[in-house]
Amino acid sequence: MTITDLSDVATLLQRMVQIDSVSGSVCGRDRSEQPLIDMLHRQAKDWGLHPTLLPVPGHADQLIITARPPVEGDTRPLLLFDSHTDTVGVEGMTVEPFAAEVRDGKMYGRGTCDTKGTGAAMLCALRQYAETEVQPVRVAVLFSVDEEMSMDGIQHFLTHDYEAVVGDAASVNVIVGEPSDLRLYVVHNGVLTWKLSTSGVAAHSSRPSNGVSAITPMLTLLQAVEALYIPSVTACHGLTGTAACAVTMIKGGHSPNVIADHCEATIDRRLSAGDVSETPELATAALRKVSACLKRCLGDAAGTPEGISFCTHARTSTSPCPS
Ligand SMILES: [Zn+2]
Repeated sequence: MTITDLSDVATLLQRMVQIDSVSGSVCGRDRSEQPLIDMLHRQAKDWGLHPTLLPVPGHADQLIITARPPVEGDTRPLLLFDSHTDTVGVEGMTVEPFAAEVRDGKMYGRGTCDTKGTGAAMLCALRQYAETEVQPVRVAVLFSVDEEMSMDGIQHFLTHDYEAVVGDAASVNVIVGEPSDLRLYVVHNGVLTWKLSTSGVAAHSSRPSNGVSAITPMLTLLQAVEALYIPSVTACHGLTGTAACAVTMIKGGHSPNVIADHCEATIDRRLSAGDVSETPELATAALRKVSACLKRCLGDAAGTPEGISFCTHARTSTSPCPS
């Protein structure tokens, strides 16, 4: 790549950082990434590329860009690049988040590194590739949305758009532009978030016997998870280390003088790659066993007949990527 091309990347990156695309789940704005997606869509068109918007319910559109329109029967291998357009929030930043200021050869601003930098580089590289006469590989750049919070975008892509994008390609390789200190990673752990909830009966705290606390059975449940489930999480991968599990959040009650009728806890589970037992389904089944056993033991102490409910938030999970 020439110096001119690098300055193209920097210019595009600056324009991308200057567009606020803090994740809608953080900033509360619906489709907060759409202005950035629209700018990239226009840019790709101006460069003679073939951009296609891929709607995602409840979020901004995703954008896939190829050098040329897809052709049926195109069996060339597909090289798919992915970069997400949302960023985390701007709280606590010590630089102006959307100025994209360049100092000493470095750009500063929210999302510069994660992942607008790779997105700008991928799009500029695609532009260059599109101008070459011989293209042995079909290349596509995907700008996915809401990666930082729910990963709704990439999951929607996999279930609704992936097959059409792959088409008749003989093989598919994917490069994800996450920050990695410029090192190449070929494997990663998966993440799965569980929510446990318990319910009770609300009452004024001056008459505790009129109510049933939802907090008490939750404490017992979490102790059981700590004692019976977490020690069983031992799978290990040579490159990513051991699987992990931790209770990360708890929330219960809504007033100091009311017996809590609802309590909720969040458990974060990191699934190890390369182990057949480390799937979201099997991990969830193992945790359910602990929960079901405890539910039987607690009986009426859990308050209402359905005192302990258990649900997993599969939407926030990713499976491990094997090496
Ligand atoms: Zn990222």
